[in-house]
Amino acid sequence: MTHGRTAIVTGAARGIGAATARRLAADGFAVAVVDLDESACDEVASNIREAGGSALGVGIDVTEAEQVEAGVARIADELGPPVVLVNNAGIIRDNLLFRMSESDWDSVIDVHLRGAFLMARACQAHMTAATFGRIVNLSSSSAQGNRGQANYSAAKAGLQGFTKTLAIELGKFGVTANAVAPGFIQTDMTAATAERMGVPFEDFLAHAASQTPVQRVGQPEDIAATISFLCSEEAGFVSGQVIYVAGGPLD
Ligand code: NAP
Repeated sequence: MTHGRTAIVTGAARGIGAATARRLAADGFAVAVVDLDESACDEVASNIREAGGSALGVGIDVTEAEQVEAGVARIADELGPPVVLVNNAGIIRDNLLFRMSESDWDSVIDVHLRGAFLMARACQAHMTAATFGRIVNLSSSSAQGNRGQANYSAAKAGLQGFTKTLAIELGKFGVTANAVAPGFIQTDMTAATAERMGVPFEDFLAHAASQTPVQRVGQPEDIAATISFLCSEEAGFVSGQVIYVAGGPLD
């Protein structure tokens, strides 16, 4: 079932990351399921193996350089050199600017931006050696600005610049870099937002669907399908792009 290439998906114990790990495994990648908690990773990795794929659960905090270097080395050793990297790990610490603490700011910037930087830096040598690589960074429709998310929108906009620069630097080695910017996706992250706002999740979902041209919210599989294309052989001429997957026309 595998075609011999290895992919890493961060934040893959649940939500969009878990759906992406399962999808890339179904596409034939050996998949490193990376998250903070290795036991939570193991669950997704075992699901993939039960479905006939190849997977390894690895606990890595993407903000910690030593854990990133050691984890990527272990993945290269046990699964094969990672030539696909999906930087999906993410957190929210929403607050209006006047209430936003320095730690709210730093932790969000660290997981999204520092994490994507450390992971890409650790993986790039495997990609350039293979003269093939695919990097996909998870941005967000919030990159265009969203009330209560000064930290998150700055991080998600920053990831777009990071993506374009990687595309410019790594293109000559057969490596593409793209960003996928989801709109409203039904996951624990959006459930946490509903809870913080004191709105029942069902009502929150119904409202989001009513504001979306296709009249539904997104599912993790919607994002996984776009990432699957960007990681494919045939997507080799798509690089430095930001693809909004939001059920309507954002840009
Ligand atoms: P989620 O359900 O909250 O999952 C995020 C995962 O990232 C969790 O498993 C979390 O682990 C992990 N993580 C957090 N910090 C980490 C770290 N330092 N190192 C490694 N893993 C870490 O989120 P999601 O909704 O699937 O979102 C996935 C990505 O899409 C995020 O980058 C998010 O910003 C982006 N996005 C989501 C939406 C949406 O509507 N859901 C929209 C736009 C963009 P723990 O569970 O242990 O904390």
